[in-house]
Amino acid sequence: MMQYRKGGCLCGAVRYVLKAEPQAAAICHCTHCQKQSGSVFSFNLFIDEADYEQTGETMVYEDRGNSGHLSYRHFCGSCGSPVITKVEMLPGKVIVKAGTLDSMEGLQGPQTEIYTDRAVKWLEPFAGVTRFPRSP
Ligand SMILES: [Zn+2]
Ligand SMILES: [Zn+2]
Repeated sequence: MMQYRKGGCLCGAVRYVLKAEPQAAAICHCTHCQKQSGSVFSFNLFIDEADYEQTGETMVYEDRGNSGHLSYRHFCGSCGSPVITKVEMLPGKVIVKAGTLDSMEGLQGPQTEIYTDRAVKWLEPFAGVTRFPRSP
C-alpha cells in the first residue's frame, strides 16, 4: 500500500494527508507569497481537492493576488503557518505549501517558476525549470 504524504502546521493543530502524489509543483515569486511566507518565494504543490484530507480548522485570508483573481489563503490561527491556498482560477484544486510536509523525501522538484519578474535578483533560475514572468 502506498504511504500517504502527511503534513501540518508548525503547532500541529492543523494536520493533513495527501491521498495522491502532487500533480505539479511550482515556485511562486509573487509578492503576496513573499509576504505570506515571510520568505523570498513559496513552493506550491497542486493536488485534487478529493485527495486532500484535513483535520483541524484553518483561518482564511481572502486575497487578491498579483493576478487580481481571488485566492483563499488558509493558515493556522494558532501558529500562523500557511497551509493551503484555493484559487478562483483552479476550481477543484488545492495548493499545498510544500514546507508544511512532514517529509519532502522523494518529492518531485518544481516544473515551473512563476512571477519571476518579482523574484529577488540574487536568486539564480533553477536548472531545467520553465520560468514565467507572471502567471502562465
Ligand atoms: Zn498551527
Ligand atoms: Zn504567489
